[in-house]
Amino acid sequence: MTNAQQRIEAIFEQVIKRNPGEPEFHQAVREVIDTLAPVLEKHPSYAEQKIIERICEPERQIIFRVPWQDDNGEVHINRGFRVGFNSALGPYKGGLRFHPSVMLGTIKFLAFEQTFKNALTGLPIGSGKGGSDFDPKGKSDSEVMRFCQSFMTELYRHIGELTDVPAGDMGVGAREIGYLFGQYKRITNRYESGILTGKSPSWGGALVRKEATGYGAVFFAEEMLKIKGRDLEGAKCLVSGSGNVAIYAMEKLQSLGAKVVACSDSAGFIYDKTGIDLNTVKQVKEVERQRIKNYVNEHPDAEYHENDNIWDIPCDLALPCATQNELDENSARTLINNGCMAVSEGANMPCTPEAVRLFLDSDVAYGPGKAANAGGVATSALEMQQNASRDSWSFEHTEKRLKEIMTNIHNDCYNTAEEFGYKGNYMVGANIASFRRVAEAMLAFGVI
Ligand code: NDP
Repeated sequence: MTNAQQRIEAIFEQVIKRNPGEPEFHQAVREVIDTLAPVLEKHPSYAEQKIIERICEPERQIIFRVPWQDDNGEVHINRGFRVGFNSALGPYKGGLRFHPSVMLGTIKFLAFEQTFKNALTGLPIGSGKGGSDFDPKGKSDSEVMRFCQSFMTELYRHIGELTDVPAGDMGVGAREIGYLFGQYKRITNRYESGILTGKSPSWGGALVRKEATGYGAVFFAEEMLKIKGRDLEGAKCLVSGSGNVAIYAMEKLQSLGAKVVACSDSAGFIYDKTGIDLNTVKQVKEVERQRIKNYVNEHPDAEYHENDNIWDIPCDLALPCATQNELDENSARTLINNGCMAVSEGANMPCTPEAVRLFLDSDVAYGPGKAANAGGVATSALEMQQNASRDSWSFEHTEKRLKEIMTNIHNDCYNTAEEFGYKGNYMVGANIASFRRVAEAMLAFGVI
């Protein structure tokens, strides 16, 4: 083991010791710092100034009580979180997740990933993430509204255009962002469009923000395929999830000539060999907020599977767009054996470390989430630009910017991997390129 590797092992031991019971955070840290030894060797000042040690410690962590009343008057208590992880490149920036599984460690893993993702966009944004263990599923609109109002009643004092700018994530879409913004505006007596992104375009939001993460993951896949001399025309695709990221990934795949045959939700997946009808998926998930199995009511020839694995279906391209650790080693092996060409992660950390290792050892092009799904936060940064200049751009212009950003991220990851002797390894490229960008800013600021 080299000195740099020993140093990284020691840092990782400390991370585990200082953050007990947070396995997802450990996993995210391990995946990044394991690839950084060559950078430490090349830049000794990063080690002297303990940049990795500092990058693994969130700048601030806020936890608060969120009491609210349901439609029957019963009182519920949830927990709210906001972690500002790193502000070397700009104000904290990252989404809010409302899901019953949310704990501090979940938010820390997401905020840590966000540090590198945001750096890859090349835009002036630091990293943060937040959310709550509130479950929006089955709640009425008024319950969601009362919850959001209570959540913002505490959160408002911690955010700001130049401090921390939240957005959506799982369970937080346009409806929730609207309620959150309304409460912020009411409490502060200020119409500060720049305090949240993911707003509706009718009141300060950017066109393409809703579509950006999914579209971006497809643009990233397209670039990876180009390197292999392939394209999306006629490619058979699997997309897990049927939320914001999945729906717009499917939309872009279809518009580029690919055929999406399956998508899922947390209860099961649908398989439609004739190609998924996206209008039905949007109606079921976005409008009715129902289960994906209802798709087969409209398309009786399609299959609904409750206990099977979506990744068992043979495909050319896989886009995991649901949640962390949803694609394991066995699934990765099946995808490889079925001749899958590329995996582009729309979700954050959807592939387990074992699955990633298999992809990296195979011919499958593997696009890690921090690069492949950076289109969402990049377009959020474009929303911030538009809010700051009181401007609004057309759909075409914004999508063109998104595509340029995704192509740049792809090339940055590809070229950096090659520079360090890991040609084709987008994970190493993404980690090193983004780490260097954050590290340089941290060095410039001194020990803070
Ligand atoms: P949504 O809440 O809109 O959708 C999540 C989808 O994933 C739902 O269809 C949900 O099903 C499904 N799902 C949840 N858990 C599982 C599971 N264990 N197996 C299969 N499906 C599951 O969230 P988003 O689309 O916004 O986010 C999806 C992922 O993308 C997350 O990892 C998020 O962090 C990441 N991401 C999101 C960005 C954004 O802009 N929104 C930006 C970058 C990353 P059900 O309806 O049953 O809950």
